[in-house]
Amino acid sequence: MARVLPDSEQLDIIGSFGFDDRELQAMAASPAAVRLPIRDVARSGEALVFENVEAFRQRYQHLTSAVAQTRDRARVSFPLRARDSIIGGITLGFPARTFDEDELGFFLSIANAAALALERIRLGTAESEARGMLDTVVAQMPVGVTVAGRDGRILYRNVAFDQVFDGLAVENLTEGSWAPLPRDKRRKRSVELPVSRSLSTGEVVVNEEMEVARPDGKTLAIMQSSAPVRDQSGAIIGAVAVTVDITQRKETEQLQDAFLSVLSHELRTPVTTISAGSQFLATRGKQLDPSVMVEVAQDVAAESDRLCRMIDDLLVLARAERGMDLTVNGVTSLQVRLPAVVAGVAAEWPDRHLVCDMPAEVPPVTGDDGYLDQVLWNLLGNAAKYGRREVTARVEVRDGHIELQVLDDGPGIPAGERDRIFELFTRVEATSQKPGTGIGLFVVRRLVAAMGGTISVANRPEGGAAFTVTLQVHSDAPEDAGAVVVDRA
Ligand code: ADP
Repeated sequence: MARVLPDSEQLDIIGSFGFDDRELQAMAASPAAVRLPIRDVARSGEALVFENVEAFRQRYQHLTSAVAQTRDRARVSFPLRARDSIIGGITLGFPARTFDEDELGFFLSIANAAALALERIRLGTAESEARGMLDTVVAQMPVGVTVAGRDGRILYRNVAFDQVFDGLAVENLTEGSWAPLPRDKRRKRSVELPVSRSLSTGEVVVNEEMEVARPDGKTLAIMQSSAPVRDQSGAIIGAVAVTVDITQRKETEQLQDAFLSVLSHELRTPVTTISAGSQFLATRGKQLDPSVMVEVAQDVAAESDRLCRMIDDLLVLARAERGMDLTVNGVTSLQVRLPAVVAGVAAEWPDRHLVCDMPAEVPPVTGDDGYLDQVLWNLLGNAAKYGRREVTARVEVRDGHIELQVLDDGPGIPAGERDRIFELFTRVEATSQKPGTGIGLFVVRRLVAAMGGTISVANRPEGGAAFTVTLQVHSDAPEDAGAVVVDRA
């Protein structure tokens, strides 16, 4: 028996009836374009009957002697039909002879049985291939997939499910080994897992969030979707569930909620002063002693500036979070900007002692006045806020860059937190009683990078934090603008 695959036209010999190996090999090796009875029946769907070699040669003169045979042989070829399509052909060989209708009918039934058998094999292979592919896809999905039987016992679980539960041997989705049962903290009672409800009531649950307590005491936030699996009569025979670990997402959300309440408080504080101060001036201004009036007006101005700086930080944060490019290639000068910021911080913190230690001439740096002011205000403001009394801004001109150090005498930064404090919303536990939002240093790092500089932090040997910023000397500056000379007298 031989089979022709009509799509590739390659001859796939499956077995042999009445042909020897040499003939079969010659047939299999014949190029796809060469006409053979088995190919012709597979293409045309018509049976071919040759009672002797003469009749065969008349139609297939082109065939080589190996295929065309010198022996006087009879052959019958039938198409193999499965359902509505032809899946190949079958050729039977006999010593030369004649065939009657009954015999041809019998051969046709052999052909049909062979077609049926081949089709079954083909479908079986396709099914196991599809199942293999499905297994691979489900196994690699980044969400936990489980299939539970009627009793909740897990019949299938993928790798991600085990990762969610960190290697815990969860054998039953609805009881026992999953226990303790999911806790809903707000309602202080056990809740049923979605998959349990799908099994018991047939409910389809989409993205239900809950907390589950694991036997090791950890609380996991999970999100589960589930649906019942029914048999043909509609009876529930199991359930499929998709489980995702959302603990980290929940923590981030909580952090953001906390941040919003801190931020709204931080924003309200200057606004309250501005509002109260300006109302006071508007209603009582005329009766006030001029020195009191000036003091109130200065408070209002200082708080307005503080509010503007917070808004500037928030704008940088919003742009950075959107992935916008903050790079600047302009020119700015520490020599001009630093003394002004030092004076501003000193005015805001009258009981701190601020020192500006800067050479008489400092070359301009690549950057932007607004960016540099924001960096200086954040660093010096933090030094005043977290330090006790002495705050020093020291500038040194190095080879091709300028180094700025902001030094204080506060508690310093714990070794393990020195990278983390530049991350958004990060505040060190020990200093978190001071007001703040955890935005400042995130913004500082982005702005310094946007100006092509670097920032790092260390603790001073004598105690206190030392923030070091390097900025590049601006190379395109015209020669006579190499330094900005400020009359310090
Ligand atoms: P904020 O000061 O608003 O909390 P920052 O981003 O400016 O936010 O600082 C992040 C955290 O880094 C602060 O909460 C504080 O814990 C720590 N930190 C920053 N500067 C200093 C400093 N000079 N001394 C000690 N800790 C500091």
